[in-house]
Amino acid sequence: MKLTSAQLIARITTGDDIPEQDLEHVAFIGRSNVGKSSVINTLTTKKDLAKPSATPGFTKSINFYLINKKFFLVDLPGYGYAQGSLKDKIRLQQLIEWYLTYPDLTRKQLIVLIVDAKVGLTELDEQMVILLQKLNKRVIVLANKIDKLKKNDVAKQISAIKLAVEPYPVIPFSAKQKVGIPLVNKEIFNF
Ligand code: GDP
Repeated sequence: MKLTSAQLIARITTGDDIPEQDLEHVAFIGRSNVGKSSVINTLTTKKDLAKPSATPGFTKSINFYLINKKFFLVDLPGYGYAQGSLKDKIRLQQLIEWYLTYPDLTRKQLIVLIVDAKVGLTELDEQMVILLQKLNKRVIVLANKIDKLKKNDVAKQISAIKLAVEPYPVIPFSAKQKVGIPLVNKEIFNF
């Protein structure tokens, strides 16, 4: 994707209205620290569109960016931040579920679920996959931090992730080494 413009349109929390325009949503979701901000910034070639927050996991809003005046890039809060209080975790989970179950959005949403290529799916990731399947979402999985794997382990680990998220497609990715960008541009931004 050639980024010609990106505008922060809204920061939304539970109970707010979602921007009404009839545009597609590309919504990024993943465990806290999986590299979601890095992925968004790499893909949009903007250094700080999604600012990695000083206190990870505590971005309490859902941020809507209008990209190229064509679609919304939706930055959801990361789930499962280990140091968060139970109350914070529940609130974040509710916020994510509120967005995912918001009426009449599914047909215009593409969910990009980011997982850690080396760690594989955590229990929370598995729960998210189950929820996304239940809600009939269109989903693409980005296996980020592929650079952390030894060359010989890449194919095996990607197969394991594919099996765990079936039937969703999996794109091997590295925000750090900028691996996987052409495939993402083709699969995600050309809908
Ligand atoms: P977020 O909490 O999901 O938004 O994650 P961040 O983007 O803040 O990244 C969390 C940590 O993972 C930071 O230390 C990043 O530098 C690191 N990171 C992100 N992407 C990659 C990657 O592709 N490879 C490696 N090795 N580290 C990464």
